[in-house]
Amino acid sequence: MTVSWGTPGTPDAARLMLLGSGELGREVAIEAMRLGVEVIACDRYAGAPAMQVAHRAIVFDMQDPALLRRHVEATRPTWIVPEIEALATSELVALEQEGWSVVPTARAAQLTMDREGIRRLAAEELGLATSPYRFAESAAEARDAIDTVGLPCVIKPVMSSSGKGQSTIHHLVDAEAAFARACAGSRGRSARVIVEGFVQFDTEITLLTIRSSTEGVVCCPPIGHRQEQGDYVLSWQPQPLPEKVLPAAVEMATAVVDALGGYGLFGVELFIRGDEVIFSEVSPRPHDTGMVTMISQDRSEFELHVRAILGLPIGEIHCPRPAASAVIRSSAHGGAPRYAGMERACAVPTAQVRLFGKPDTRPGRRLGVALATGSSLEEACSRAEAAAACVEVIQD
Ligand code: AMP
Repeated sequence: MTVSWGTPGTPDAARLMLLGSGELGREVAIEAMRLGVEVIACDRYAGAPAMQVAHRAIVFDMQDPALLRRHVEATRPTWIVPEIEALATSELVALEQEGWSVVPTARAAQLTMDREGIRRLAAEELGLATSPYRFAESAAEARDAIDTVGLPCVIKPVMSSSGKGQSTIHHLVDAEAAFARACAGSRGRSARVIVEGFVQFDTEITLLTIRSSTEGVVCCPPIGHRQEQGDYVLSWQPQPLPEKVLPAAVEMATAVVDALGGYGLFGVELFIRGDEVIFSEVSPRPHDTGMVTMISQDRSEFELHVRAILGLPIGEIHCPRPAASAVIRSSAHGGAPRYAGMERACAVPTAQVRLFGKPDTRPGRRLGVALATGSSLEEACSRAEAAAACVEVIQD
């Protein structure tokens, strides 16, 4: 089939409506615009990173089903592309049934909007290895859950990301405080948490997995990463793995993306313990740890996502040399920050810096990323970290 599309701004344009306009959305917008696609960036606040580069921006509460419908019907997108979990996903399901195209599918957005849908799919329907888990809605239920999954364990809100509300506990007496922290860190007013047995993993990886109409399922070389308080601070590629592990990881990722369906790139998070592969989570869209692909691969995760959406060939994916990404974070609450030290950051050999242009800050908020390559993973990581450390975030 020949794919064709018109010029942005004309009725014949291919329109990509981004639901969520963060730093990952910004790169998706850039890649789509490079291919002549019209991009409409949406988020609940003005000046979000993708809005700063898109053809148009719409500010609205994307968790409000009526508003979501109204803006989809007015925009008439060729593709609705969720970039975040916090969306009115049941309305996406209804819109999809009426013929609108949701990437990769509305069901994928719905199943991954909280930890429960995807965990039950992976463990109970697909039979994949996961940490032991239970769900709880009170401190008493959390204690019962700990009796089953054992200690240490990780307690997380079912509705959260980037480590918000997450804690690892070693003693039953800490269950109440961990439950309260999870409720406080939860998106919306949900008091539902997942209690997961702690996995003593050797490595954790993200397997960027593309499901495309042209080549079926293709995985990028594995990405290793380091998390602090549940949020990524450093990622690198390619992560070496024991011999039998990569085929098992690819098999697991393929099972998950085939179950979610549709076309696009997915970030499949896996724990590796010895020769064992344990499923953790999946994002049906580019993954934050995959920002390293902006320097490591000849086609970044964002370009691959857009290619899969548009039905274009994926081609071979190469990671020619070790590479790393290190996060630049803010340490304080404030308005639009200023940045210094860029000349030093860019003087680090091979380093590139991306600043996201976020209009305000809070402690730990990701504001940019430094990328670097090296002759070894150690060299790539230390260059990326050195470049990130040069960037000063100034809050007047
Ligand atoms: P998540 O938001 O579920 O991706 O969790 C963030 C990070 O916390 C993971 O990347 C792991 O480093 C750590 N983590 C989460 N769940 C577990 C677990 N069950 N066992 C060990 N570490 C975990």
